[in-house]
Amino acid sequence: MRGFVCIENDWMNDSLVPSVLRRVRATLERWTQEGQLVSAAALQLNLVHLKTAAWVLCLLNMAHVLVFALVLGSTDPVRTQWANGVAWAHATMAALMLGMGAMARQGLRHHATPRHVRRLPDITALAVLAWAVALTLVDQAVTTNISPYLNACAGVAIVLLLPPLRALVLFTLAWALLAWGLGLVSTDPATLLTNRVNAATASVLAMMVSVLLWRKYTQTELLQRALADTNQVLKQQRAELETLATRDPLTGLLNRREFLHQAEQECARAQRDHSPLSLLMMDLDHFKTINDRFGHPVGDAVLRHVARLMTQSVRQTDRVARFGGEEFMVLLPNTDAASAHVLADKLRRTLIHTPTPWPQTGAGHDIPITTSIGLICQPAGQNHSLDLLLARVDQALYRAKTQGRNRVEEMAAPASDDSVINN
Ligand code: GH3
Ligand code: MG
Ligand code: MG
Repeated sequence: MRGFVCIENDWMNDSLVPSVLRRVRATLERWTQEGQLVSAAALQLNLVHLKTAAWVLCLLNMAHVLVFALVLGSTDPVRTQWANGVAWAHATMAALMLGMGAMARQGLRHHATPRHVRRLPDITALAVLAWAVALTLVDQAVTTNISPYLNACAGVAIVLLLPPLRALVLFTLAWALLAWGLGLVSTDPATLLTNRVNAATASVLAMMVSVLLWRKYTQTELLQRALADTNQVLKQQRAELETLATRDPLTGLLNRREFLHQAEQECARAQRDHSPLSLLMMDLDHFKTINDRFGHPVGDAVLRHVARLMTQSVRQTDRVARFGGEEFMVLLPNTDAASAHVLADKLRRTLIHTPTPWPQTGAGHDIPITTSIGLICQPAGQNHSLDLLLARVDQALYRAKTQGRNRVEEMAAPASDDSVINN
């Protein structure tokens, strides 16, 4: 039996107690770490609470001053002294609250909270509890209850967010002060004991409420931050997906699918607004020889260079797309045939005069390229399908190729869609 007890004690000592202590320590460490993460946000919230609570408390204190200083006139000197003490205590607290409220507002106005404002919630909690202790002790002249202390405990626990350790220190200190003060002013030992016990219970309850509110706030704040981070990642991924779905990875221009989608919309808009719309189809001349001569990566660089030149040459409302290998498309809303022709020729000449820089080929040996361009314009007031315009601009490009390349060829808009499609 003795052996069993010994074994049980050893087990308690070696395993259970340390493991419980370890767990408690780990939990407290986690709470501390999480608390540090949210301390700045908690301070801001405390300042917001203080800003409002200061006004409410100030008004309450002023009401008390009125009641105790003016209404409760008495001939009894003890009662008069008590009423005056209470009135002065409330007047002092009203002034203190005005100061605290002003400091809280000052803290909220500054982006970086001033150092003296950072301790404001702790100082307020301490001041309110100490003041409640003093008021409770003054009250003992006419009553045995400790209501001011109970109210202050509840108020501090609910209004201010305090980290658990700080709450423990504050409420313990306040209780110790009250217990000591009650010993000085109480004459009946039974009343003294019950008041000390009641105050201890109120302090413990206030601490529990304070810890629960702090933990709830910490968890909610951290959860919201995690959610915000996840949302940010999702937003980025969505943007990346959108880019992947709508852009050509080599040049960054619109891809064929997105171009067709936007071109459909622009066609419909042009028909609705009775505005002209033009399309350019560009194909680089003898591009295969660039790949053959300099290699595929150089060919890629030329494509990127051409894409950059095209983007720089058009208006923001125009759409530029890579339609195929070395084939590009430009959609020009609100542009008639003459203006489209000017732009097409400008593009053609820009490409000639701006060869792709390629250092490996040596100075003065940048890679030249020419382009053939087909053009079609849907004049204002005409309605053609996008398919028809695409077929027509393809024919124009074919003509530019067959007539010697490095040129712009324009096809007239057809009388009707059928005449072209049947061609
Ligand atoms: P044409 O003047 O008749 O248009 O002759 P071309 O050589 O430009 O036309 P062709 O259709 O014979 O060759 C197109 C070349 O474009 C062949 C292909 O390897 C190249 N190409 C297509 N896509 C890419 C790409 O993404 N990168 C590179 N470097 N080359 C590409
Ligand atoms: Mg080509
Ligand atoms: Mg081609």
